[in-house]
Amino acid sequence: TLVYLNGEFLPYDQASLSIDDRGTLFSDGVYEVLEYFAGRPFAMQQHVDRLKYSLAGICIDPPSVVDELPAISDELIRRNDMPDARVYWQVTRGPAPRNHLPPSDPTPTVLVTTTPTQPLSSNPPARQWKAITHEDLRWKRCCYKTLMLLPNTLAKQQAKRDGCQEAILHQGVAVTEGGSTNVFVVRDGELWTHPANEAILRGITRDLVIDYARAMDLTVHETAVTLDELRQADEVFVTGTTTHVTAITHIDGHPIQLGEVGPVTASLHDAYEQQLMQACCT
Ligand code: PMP
Repeated sequence: TLVYLNGEFLPYDQASLSIDDRGTLFSDGVYEVLEYFAGRPFAMQQHVDRLKYSLAGICIDPPSVVDELPAISDELIRRNDMPDARVYWQVTRGPAPRNHLPPSDPTPTVLVTTTPTQPLSSNPPARQWKAITHEDLRWKRCCYKTLMLLPNTLAKQQAKRDGCQEAILHQGVAVTEGGSTNVFVVRDGELWTHPANEAILRGITRDLVIDYARAMDLTVHETAVTLDELRQADEVFVTGTTTHVTAITHIDGHPIQLGEVGPVTASLHDAYEQQLMQACCT
C-alpha cells in the first residue's frame, strides 16, 4: 500500500516522519477523514474547506498542496486499487527542534493514507450502538479538527470497558457531542443537536443530516439538550463520516424507549445511505 508524504508516493514501510515533527511532540496539527466508494469521494469539497478552517484556527498557513489533496487522494485510491476506502489527511506544523514556540517559517508535513472499507450495499439497516455518558474534558476550541484527541480516546476506552461503542460527552448537564460523532435527539417528532459553535466539531454528516431532516419537513433545533432530556428522548442517534447515521439504543445501560432503531433515525439513515449511493455509485 502506498501513502502520500510531502510530495511523494511511497510504500507504507518506507514513509517516515522526523522525530521532531510537531504533530507528535505537541499534537500541533489537524486532520480530516473522508470516504471513497466505487472510486469516488463523498463530500470532498466540504472536507477541503474544513481542513483550511482548522489550519487557520491553529495559525498554520495552508500549504498550496492542500488544494491538490483531492487529486492526490484520487491517485492514491487508484494506485492502491482501493475503490472503497477511508482517506486520512494530516497536516502538521512540521519538524522543528523541540520548543513550545515554533519557528517563524516551518515547513508543514502533509500526509495522506488510505484504509479499505466495506463497499456500499443497497438498503443496509441502521447500525445500533450503546453509549455511555462522559464528562467532556476537552479544550475550548473543539470546532477545529486537531490531532489533540486524548480526551476523546480515553472516553472511547471507557465506553469499551462498559460494553459500549460511543461516549456521549457533556459539559455540566449540557450534551455536546460524541467522542467521534455528533449527537441528535428526537423528541415529539422534532430534532435537537448542539449548535455549531466552539464547543463541538461541526460535522459534515451533521450538516447533511440537518438538510435531509428539513427537506422532510422535520423541525431541527440547534440547541443543546440536557442529560435528562437525552435519557428521556424518543430516539437518539449519532452521525459521522465513518459512522453514517447510527442509532443509540442504550445509554448508561438504560434503553432509549424500547431500545430499538426509531422511525426518524431510520428515515434519516436511509436518506444518508441513498445520498452516498447517488453520489458515488451512479
Ligand atoms: N465530532 C467529533 C469529535 C469527531 O471526531 C467527528 C468525526 N471524526 C465528528 C463529530 C463527525 O464529523 P464528520 O461528520 O465531519 O465526520
